[in-house]
Amino acid sequence: APALYWIRRDLRLADNPALTAAAQGGRPVIPVYLHAPDEAGAWAPGEASNWWLHHSLEALAGDLAARGLPLVIRHGDSLAALESLIAATGAEAVHWNRLYEPALIRRDKGIKQQLKARGLEVHSHNAALLHEPWTVQTGTGGDYKAFTPFWRACRRRAEPASPLPVPERLQAPAGVERLDGAVMPLDPGNGPLTALQLLPQVDWAGGLRARWQPGEGGATQRLEAFLEAALAAYDEGRDLPAIAGTSRLSPHLHFGEIGPRQIWQAVQAKLARHGAEGWLVTGAESFLAEIGWREFAHHVLYHHPDFPDAPLNPRFADFPWQADPGERLLSAWQRGETGIPLVDAGMRELYTTGWMHNRVRMVVGSFLVKNLRLPWQAGEGWFWDTLVDADLASNSLGWQWVAGSGADAAPYFRVFNPVRQGERFDASGDYVAHWIPALARLSAKHRHAPWQAPDGVLADAGLTLGVDYPHPMVDLKASRQAALAAFEQIKKPG
Ligand code: FAD
Repeated sequence: APALYWIRRDLRLADNPALTAAAQGGRPVIPVYLHAPDEAGAWAPGEASNWWLHHSLEALAGDLAARGLPLVIRHGDSLAALESLIAATGAEAVHWNRLYEPALIRRDKGIKQQLKARGLEVHSHNAALLHEPWTVQTGTGGDYKAFTPFWRACRRRAEPASPLPVPERLQAPAGVERLDGAVMPLDPGNGPLTALQLLPQVDWAGGLRARWQPGEGGATQRLEAFLEAALAAYDEGRDLPAIAGTSRLSPHLHFGEIGPRQIWQAVQAKLARHGAEGWLVTGAESFLAEIGWREFAHHVLYHHPDFPDAPLNPRFADFPWQADPGERLLSAWQRGETGIPLVDAGMRELYTTGWMHNRVRMVVGSFLVKNLRLPWQAGEGWFWDTLVDADLASNSLGWQWVAGSGADAAPYFRVFNPVRQGERFDASGDYVAHWIPALARLSAKHRHAPWQAPDGVLADAGLTLGVDYPHPMVDLKASRQAALAAFEQIKKPG
């Protein structure tokens, strides 16, 4: 009897324990994608994620088809869809790779129970993490609240397992093509994938298409290019938004087109090939620590299921946020029209490409939460909808870090100055000039604070503030003081 392989955010064939287990011993496999966004509760994927998912499923369907396996796609209640497929195919086993979001953990537990009660063999596996959240514990058996001891504990554990190869023999059961409406047709413009309506009605995705190649092939190429070109200089390059100094693997990792074990092994292999050259080792350690932050985010979310919605530090629940009638402030931030160049460049990069550099994410976040004093949840929600790497664990961690309310967070009183950050990390002003072409007419010296440029300089550049580029919407110094004063209000007495 065949086995169902339930595909979720593990859109790859290599290092895929559920697929490997389903195909064990040459058993016929039916790969199934069940589309049920509502089952993620309040955190159904946003628009940019859906764009990615569509193309990633298309790529996976192609990779499976090349091995003779049609991809079955179903829409609706997952349990009902699995049951009907089991009835139609006589499948006796179901395998999937685990997800770690609270709503999905609950759903999966329920489904596992129901299927087991019907006599099926049901197994879940780990494809997404080096160390699953419950396996890393403090000396007293608790969870970690700070990254450094968490990562130290991870590093003390055994090396991550070697990644699995693509199963050699993948075989479809006879007749699977006849599953009504289930088969991925050769023409992807006209079948079940299109019926999921993942692509936007109005095509705003040109910038995403130009930047990304969703799918396992695209993920592998990204990793190779990064190891070749940027790993050795990563420790410094990772902070410079004008260059491709980071891996840009985040959406590929989120959708499981590549897994952390594969990344781990590729980095170790590169180190082994090149010997322990100092720069490379520093770059590699620093890069692996970022993979560690992703692990930490999953750890925190697992142990604090409210993390995406409520501040981990409860004092922040009473923070006096600024009123924003008509969402004037929020909307200027979202559109990249705050008049603060580094913030606007980041927000425009996000809107255009579905991604933003980490350094700039911290800056735009700090500006929203501290200078505009708008709730971090508003920024989290916008990122959720617009990031191709939107990830419940990492996004919550990032926003609570920025707000100062989370695990191992930036202290609230540390307010990023976006002008200083720009001068330091985008000294040439190239990043800002790329996303805000009007500012390219200024020399590097003035690009991060055009309102401070002498009138003559602005005139020579043909730049009129308020016309070609907005005046700053807040005074950075005064808004910083207001934020610190607001913070005083929620400080514990004594
Ligand atoms: P690299 O520097 O190449 O790092 C390699 C991988 O490590 C990344 O792909 C990512 O999976 C992981 N990683 C790196 N930094 C972090 C981090 N701080 N936290 C968790 N994982 C990390 N990352 C997301 O994947 N999804 C999100 O929704 C997300 N939201 C964020 C929101 C805010 C406010 C902030 C400050 C950060 C957020 N991050 C998020 C973390 C980080 O910005 C991105 O992971 C990173 O910019 C992705 O680029 P990269 O793949 O080139 O990273």
